[in-house]
Amino acid sequence: MLSDRFGRTIDYLRVSVTDRCDLRCSYCIPKGFKGFEEPENWLSFDEMTRVIAAFARLGTRRFRLTGGEPLLRRGLPALAARLSALPGVDDLSLTTNGTQLQHQAQALHDAGVRRLNVSLDSLRAECVQSICGSDSLDKVLDGLAAARHAGFSAIKINMVPLLGVNDGDIEAMIAYCIEHGFILRLIEAMPMGSTGQHAQGLDLTRKLDELTRRFGLHASCKTLGGGPARYWESRDGSFTLGLITPMSQHFCASCNRVRLSVDGTLYMCLGQEERFELRPLLRAGCSDARLEAAIRDAIELKPEKHDFITQPSRVVRFMSMTGG
Ligand code: SAM
Repeated sequence: MLSDRFGRTIDYLRVSVTDRCDLRCSYCIPKGFKGFEEPENWLSFDEMTRVIAAFARLGTRRFRLTGGEPLLRRGLPALAARLSALPGVDDLSLTTNGTQLQHQAQALHDAGVRRLNVSLDSLRAECVQSICGSDSLDKVLDGLAAARHAGFSAIKINMVPLLGVNDGDIEAMIAYCIEHGFILRLIEAMPMGSTGQHAQGLDLTRKLDELTRRFGLHASCKTLGGGPARYWESRDGSFTLGLITPMSQHFCASCNRVRLSVDGTLYMCLGQEERFELRPLLRAGCSDARLEAAIRDAIELKPEKHDFITQPSRVVRFMSMTGG
């Protein structure tokens, strides 16, 4: 099992298969952004599979495909099928904005992806348009329906509430998730890159009392995939609300993850610069033993915590560059 200098077990790898996205969410990729990674620097599916197999041999059991928008990477179901067949890969999941999901949900499920997070910030088309820069609401709703039809259960919807923009939409989102059996997760906006630093996210710790009272929710001990969300449930257990509070109540002491970006860099923390480049090793034809040693060395670099509150301007990477 991998563990870091602070005694944390690292058993979760998020893998960005592309840094490109078809949306321009106001807190993520800026409009007109041109600094995407050159295709020759993208890890190939063979290279990604090698890295993930190495993590699995080192005891990592959970892997999530993300981006950018992962469904933009051509042939993603073929990669997912290779990964889910690897010894030790017990849990392969995906985070998507849902715009391409309608056409890919079945292939992804058939390929062994079992858990799905879909990002959606509002059920009002004009609000989605203003946050994401695209009229994508109907496509996302069709994608969610296709995902259920394909056999995905316990689908999570990720919403980033922004003050004065969509924070008034939380109740409608809860009602929608109750009706359709989705889990809703509210995420505090993080100061990643210029976009994240300008985002005015909601303090969810303060909002919690109002939501639990209004919807009769009680604290749950569910972990649901081992991420940083804390959960609340309705009395009959039919609805689950998750809160991810990196700003108002950080959870670095129990951080269990690192991230692989599309260019083969391992990032140790969303909010810090510590990183380790695996691509040069992979392209120099390193042995499996050397790759595993490099991963262990990288984990040693993992910092204790982010500094989102004390130094919010420090992180110049957008979430999509690290692999959100
Ligand atoms: N394109 C996919 C999607 O939309 O889910 C995966 C990548 S996206 C970067 C992953 C998640 O990061 C999304 O739920 C998005 O809302 C969230 N995100 C992006 N920038 C963020 C920020 N500055 N603070 C908090 N969440 C952010």
